[in-house]
Amino acid sequence: MTTPNVITRFAPSPTGFLHIGGARTALFNYYFAKHMGGEFHLRIEDTDKARSTDAATQAIIDGMNWLGVHHDGEIVYQSKNADAHIEAAQALLGSGAAYRCYATAEELESLRAEQGDTAFRSPHRDSTNLLDKPYTIRFRVADGTTRIKDHVQGDITWENKNFDDLVLLRADGTPTYMLAVVVDDHNMGVTHVVRGDDHLINAGRQTLIYQALGWDVPEWAHVPLIHGPDGKKLSKRHGALGAEAYRDMGYLPGGLRNYLLKLGWSHGDEELFFTDDEIAKVFTLEGINSAPARLDFDKMDFINGQHILQEAGDSLLAQSLPFLEELNEGPLSDALKARILAAMETLKPRAKTLKELAEQARYLLAKRPLELTGKSAKPLKREGAIDHLSALTLRLEPLKDTQWSHETLQELIQTYVTDNDIGFGKIGQPVRAALTGGAPSPDLSWVLALLGKDEVLGRLSDVIKSDYGKKED
Ligand code: GLU
Repeated sequence: MTTPNVITRFAPSPTGFLHIGGARTALFNYYFAKHMGGEFHLRIEDTDKARSTDAATQAIIDGMNWLGVHHDGEIVYQSKNADAHIEAAQALLGSGAAYRCYATAEELESLRAEQGDTAFRSPHRDSTNLLDKPYTIRFRVADGTTRIKDHVQGDITWENKNFDDLVLLRADGTPTYMLAVVVDDHNMGVTHVVRGDDHLINAGRQTLIYQALGWDVPEWAHVPLIHGPDGKKLSKRHGALGAEAYRDMGYLPGGLRNYLLKLGWSHGDEELFFTDDEIAKVFTLEGINSAPARLDFDKMDFINGQHILQEAGDSLLAQSLPFLEELNEGPLSDALKARILAAMETLKPRAKTLKELAEQARYLLAKRPLELTGKSAKPLKREGAIDHLSALTLRLEPLKDTQWSHETLQELIQTYVTDNDIGFGKIGQPVRAALTGGAPSPDLSWVLALLGKDEVLGRLSDVIKSDYGKKED
């Protein structure tokens, strides 16, 4: 086996769900690895035992599965790598790049107060005395400057004197994030670190640790965070929700992937719709914008609507079942599923989300007799409406099943209108009311064709038998 030329990773801390910003970071890593013919790995950074939960780990894995961001290889759990972290800390201690700091919590507090705004330096930094006291292992920040080349942020330089001598290993022997992330990325062979720009300064600190360990420094790409539509930091109100919340709003995984990719990445044109293969072909880190992107639900809806148009009918039916079942107040019979599948091409262009798709199918699900009240019953109360329904029924009844098509039905209604010398609305409105109860619906002849003969005659007869024509509001 050859080692892949590019290895990326997504390294979430399991302290909450897979929020939309994290999902986008995962996607950028995923598409870049695909573009380069490399690998994309998932590492769960669960070293903070107090804040990490199994439920959050599961929510992240489920969220990624649903979104279709599939990682290569086994999931790496950071907590299992403690031995490697400790070994690296010892190596740094051995080479003098780290030192034992015996300062107690109180001492640290007064030292910090003394040192003010300058970066932290421990008084034990230059001592060679080994004391029989608990100690942390601190990194010894060297003099000079640290420079990185970031694929998104450009060249960045820090004065090392602004970096704290940070803790690598706590007094209880547990590693800190700063050490664990370097050791794990190195051991996983990560070549490109793509993550939120809240970690930009950590790239400077981590570069120093890589160099002190004599390891290759990975390439960096720090992605600006997502802002709300108003330009402010993303909050729950804006849509800083978990992937499952987008699933429950009725977005397709492919639609959300496409939208999140376009949110903060472009490749020179205004094209919005992308399939996975197209993305993998053109995705580069240089296309990531260095300015924060704003969440835009209209664009998300538009892109999702494009994906609904492209999606196969049976897949759309399967994915919209939870929404349909909610409207239906229970599972759908096979006959109802078949009816909706047959109607799919008329539903697709009218829906931006699966929720809307289900809403467009409401008239197909309605149970007899339909509830016709208020506005939806109005066309049935007009003079002559019920008589028209009866007369039309007489023309529909003789049709054979094989004649029950959109074209034949369109013709039949047109002939009825001509024969009776009436406007289309005189028959169209009461028939639509009787068949749909006012729910959204396509052209009338499609409504008839898709409901099928038995259902149409049944719904018409329910209305004819009732006394809507006479009922007062
Ligand atoms: N675990 C860190 C976080 O969730 C990410 C670390 C990294 O990507 O280097 O913010």
